[in-house]
Amino acid sequence: MLKNDKYEVIVGLEIHSQLLTKSKAFCSDQVAFGEPANTLVSPISLGHPGTLPVHNKEAVNMAIMLGLACACDITEYNTYDRKNYFYADLPKGYQITQLGTPICLNGKVEITLPGGQTKIINLTRIHMEEDTGKGLHDLDIENTLMDYNRAGTPLVEIVTEPDFRSGDEAYAFLSEIRKLVRYLGVCDGNMEEGSLRCDANVSIRPIGTTAFGTKVEVKNMNSMTNVKKAIEYEFERQCKMADAGEEIHSETRNFDALQGTTFSMRSKELVNDYRFFPEPDLPPLIVSQEWISNVKSAMPALPKELYNKFNTEMGLGDYDASILTESRDIAEYFLAICEHTQNYKAAANWTMGAVKNWVNSNASHIHVFPIAAATIAELVSSIDEGVINFSIAEQQVFPALLINPSQKVSEIIANQNLALMDDDDALQTWVNEVLAEFPDKVAEYRAGKSNLMGLFIGQVKKKSSGKADPKKTNDLLTKSLA
Ligand code: ADP
Ligand code: MG
Repeated sequence: MLKNDKYEVIVGLEIHSQLLTKSKAFCSDQVAFGEPANTLVSPISLGHPGTLPVHNKEAVNMAIMLGLACACDITEYNTYDRKNYFYADLPKGYQITQLGTPICLNGKVEITLPGGQTKIINLTRIHMEEDTGKGLHDLDIENTLMDYNRAGTPLVEIVTEPDFRSGDEAYAFLSEIRKLVRYLGVCDGNMEEGSLRCDANVSIRPIGTTAFGTKVEVKNMNSMTNVKKAIEYEFERQCKMADAGEEIHSETRNFDALQGTTFSMRSKELVNDYRFFPEPDLPPLIVSQEWISNVKSAMPALPKELYNKFNTEMGLGDYDASILTESRDIAEYFLAICEHTQNYKAAANWTMGAVKNWVNSNASHIHVFPIAAATIAELVSSIDEGVINFSIAEQQVFPALLINPSQKVSEIIANQNLALMDDDDALQTWVNEVLAEFPDKVAEYRAGKSNLMGLFIGQVKKKSSGKADPKKTNDLLTKSLA
C-alpha cells in the first residue's frame, strides 16, 4: 500500500497492446517494427478517399483469446466507432475504435506482490482499435517527420478498474499482463519499443473516506519501473497539493524519465469532443459461441495453469514453478525434457541452470539453443543410472554437446572415456596406493579422525582423473581401513 498518515493512492491503468498479426487491422499492409519509414502503407492505411476498411479476423481472434485468459465476458454483437480528431499522426482524421461495444467486458487478473501476497485486479473492458502513425522528433533539427508504418496496426486497450493501491501493484499487474500476452503470442510485450504502452490514472483520497478524488492521467512511461516511479511521484505531488489546500485538476501529464517527475501536458477540464459516431464502412462483427470455442481450443496453456501443474502435480514447489513459467519457451523446453524422463526435478535443474545460463550469457533465445530436449533427458538418465556424475555431465558432456549437438550422450561418454570407474580391481589398486602413500593419516583415521575419509576419496578420485565412482570408492576404503 502506498499511503502516508493522511492519504492513500488510487490508480487505474489503461494498457495498449499491439497485436502480433501479420497485417493491419483493416487492410492488408504488413505489420512490422523497424522497417524503412513509410514502406508499409497503402491508400487504405493513409485514409485516401473512397477506400474501405475490412475486418482482420486474426486480430479479433487475439482479442478474444486475451479476454478468455482474463475471464472476461465476450461481446457477441460488436460495432466500431470513429473517434475524430486532427493530428499529423492520424492520416484518416479519425481512429476506428470500439466505444460502445468493447469485445471484452469485466474480467480479472491475479497479481503476486513482492512479499508473495496475491490480489485480484478487476478489468473494466478490453476493446479493439487501431494505432496511429509515429512522429519522429529527433531526426531533423527543424521538423517533425512522420512515419505511417504503424498507422492502422491492430491494438487492444485493456482498461482496469481503479483497483491499484501502490506502484508495486501496478508493476506486478504489468508484468503479469506482459507474461500473459507473450504466452498467448498476441503481443511481443516490448515496452521499450512501444508495443505495450501504459497510461496511469492517479488520484489520492483521505484515509478512511470512500469517494474518489480527481485523477490525473500520466502518459509516456516506457518501462514498468517508470510506471511505478510515476505513480509514486504523483502520490507525493498530490499529497503536497492537498496539504497546501490546492485543488487537483483533471489533466494529462507526461513522465520525465530523467528527472523521475511528471509535468503537465494539457488540461482535461475542457472535455475533448471526439464526435464519436458509428463507423459506417464496417458491418457489425458477430462473435458466435462457436467462434469463441474455436479460439478456446487453440489456446496454449496459461502461465497460471502451468505454474499449478509444476508446483503441485509434478511436485517441484513454488520456487521452481515460478522460474520455469516466467516465459512460455522455458516452460515448453522443460516439458519437452519431461517427455523423456520421469526425473522432473533434474529436468527442472538443467532447465533453470545450464540451459538458462546459456540463453542469458549468449543474450540469446531458447529457440536457438542447440541441444535437443531429448538429449538433456539422456544426460539426466546417464546420471541417474550412475554412468556419469553431475559434474562430469555439466563440465564435460554438456560443453561437448554445445559444440556438436547431434552427438549422442553415450557416444561422448564412450569417445572421451568419461564413464565413472566401477571396475573393483582398478579401484582397489588405487585405494591400496593411497593408503600406502598416507600412513600417518591412516593411523589418525584408525584412531578416530573419521573426517579424513574425504581426503582418501579425493586422492583416489585424482588417480582416476575424476572418474572413480564415489560410492564404490567409499565402500572399498571403509573395508580396507577397518
Ligand atoms: P475518463 O472518462 O477520463 O476516460 P474513465 O472513467 O473512463 O475515465 O476511467 C479511465 C481509467 O481511469 C480507468 O482505468 C479507471 O479505473 C481510472 N480511474 C477512474 N477514476 C479514477 C480515480 N478517481 N482515480 C484513479 N483512477 C481512476
Ligand atoms: Mg474513458
